[in-house]
Amino acid sequence: MRRRWLFADQLGPHFLDAPDQPVLLIESKAVFRRRAFHRQKAHLVLSALRHRARDGDVRLVRAETYAEAVSEPLTVCHPTSRAARGLVRRLPDVEMLPPRGFVTAPPDFVRWAGERDHLRLEDFYRFARRRHEVLMDGGEPAGGRWNLDEENREPPPRGAGRLDVPPPPPIVEDEIDEQVRTDLDRWARDDGITFVGRDGPRLFPATRAEALARLRHFVEHRLPAFGPYEDAMLAGDPWMAHSMLSPAINLGLLDPVEVIDAAERAYRAGDAPLAGAEGFIRQILGWRDFVWHLYWYFEPEYRAANELAARGQLPKWFAELNADAVQARCLADVLAGVRDRGWVHHIPRLMVLGNYAMQRGWRPGAVADWFHRSFVDGYEWVMTANVVGMSQYADGGRMSTKPYAAGGAYLHRMSDYCGGCRYDPKVRVGADACPYTAGYWTFLARHEPELAGNHRLRRPLQGLRRLGDLEAVLEQERARGSRAP
Ligand code: FAD
Repeated sequence: MRRRWLFADQLGPHFLDAPDQPVLLIESKAVFRRRAFHRQKAHLVLSALRHRARDGDVRLVRAETYAEAVSEPLTVCHPTSRAARGLVRRLPDVEMLPPRGFVTAPPDFVRWAGERDHLRLEDFYRFARRRHEVLMDGGEPAGGRWNLDEENREPPPRGAGRLDVPPPPPIVEDEIDEQVRTDLDRWARDDGITFVGRDGPRLFPATRAEALARLRHFVEHRLPAFGPYEDAMLAGDPWMAHSMLSPAINLGLLDPVEVIDAAERAYRAGDAPLAGAEGFIRQILGWRDFVWHLYWYFEPEYRAANELAARGQLPKWFAELNADAVQARCLADVLAGVRDRGWVHHIPRLMVLGNYAMQRGWRPGAVADWFHRSFVDGYEWVMTANVVGMSQYADGGRMSTKPYAAGGAYLHRMSDYCGGCRYDPKVRVGADACPYTAGYWTFLARHEPELAGNHRLRRPLQGLRRLGDLEAVLEQERARGSRAP
């Protein structure tokens, strides 16, 4: 059996053909020179790689580049970026196998997509549920409905400040983490390698055992509450009932199939309601796979799409995660979360960070680069559909039906941020004007011609035309420029 070269995001057993297959791991410093990493992502990846090197017949090669570390015939599973695939193809005697670590096979996706004009998550998700027989009772969806989103869009419970679910058990760092920390400090000091964000205790699994423990804990204690508050935000509870499993799944420590099976089993055993299990499975079998396939299905130029002609630069305070410069409570808290943990859940990414960037017309490619370097679970394949498509609408709607633009009213309904904020979500003009509310109307006004044909925006655009103070809103936003709100 040829030795299997595992990239650092292919660390679990499902990337091998047999448990005792010999493995090559490459720790390349050049990777950290090529692009900035969040300090905690650099730690997580190195820690995961070095922990993996202790399991079985593993050769860990420390090299400047991948190419110089490859010296024998190898097999490798299809990597997760075009650049890495190009590299593998150029190397002699490295056989590339189909991708693993996702649920739907590429030919199935291509067949599904080829039959459609519009690529929508809901259609793909139903296809995948049937194809893989997940949450199905015969030919029908379990519980008689495909989509329980209606039940899963609750505002956060008021008053408590946090959800009544146990937080994930803390990770206990070991001597490998200690060595990684020492090495990263040295690379920053002596080798000119720069990181984003702050260092901190490791929050996410670096080993298969840690990842399985987190999965078990999530399914037992947090999945039951996952559904209703999936879209809500609480200032005092960054995790809420989210799984925090994306870094472990993206490192390949967990197979998405086993994660989905665990959630379905909990539902079938009566330990989790359908809304929670369905909502969670939709994220993995649906969204995660959809986003992965779109990365390969769309042409490489999709990454640079810019249908709304957004050309603004990211201001320094945002690029450098300077949360202390921000007074808007939601944005300050979310930016601090990115700086201090490299992770916030889906709604802060989409509706606080992405929404702010899109309202201000920042260049989508730069926003995608920012997400890629600022998050512990950031990978190139995740950026295109999530950032370029969904959050910036830079593809003009190839994968979503409308831009995810929202004003302060949405943030007020779905979070407890506005209560303690110096801005008022209802106010558009003046010292108390909420930057999201003013930004929302400014965005609609700027793009009215492109968005006029979108029936989902008919009412907001009618509202825009009735705004008596639109000129004042636009003038105020011009004056704000790129200053932190
Ligand atoms: P949960 O809410 O518990 O969801 C379960 C799992 O579903 C996640 O672990 C993840 O594996 C998967 N998932 C859900 N939605 C998506 C999605 N849209 N794309 C891919 N996987 C999904 N996810 C990343 O893994 N890496 C990223 O760099 C990333 N960047 C994002 C940027 C933007 C602007 C947006 C809108 C979303 C991004 N996502 C990204 C998707 C999603 O926000 C995260 O997967 C999720 O917040 C991770 O937290 P969790 O594990 O607690 O997720």
